[in-house]
Amino acid sequence: MLGVRGPGASGVIAMGLLASLVPDRETVVVECRRCGTTVDRGTSVCSVCDSEDIAEYTIR
Ligand SMILES: [Zn+2]
Repeated sequence: MLGVRGPGASGVIAMGLLASLVPDRETVVVECRRCGTTVDRGTSVCSVCDSEDIAEYTIR
């Protein structure tokens, strides 16, 4: 068991990943205006109702 630190080390790595995915404190929400489904950022057509009316909000 040389150098094994248990779950603590992986927890630190997970925190770092999370921080890199969320720069500053902005949260971008992208959703369909027709049906309200949240879609991935960069999506231009709703996967649920095929609407191209996609709205993007930035929440601070
Ligand atoms: Zn939709």
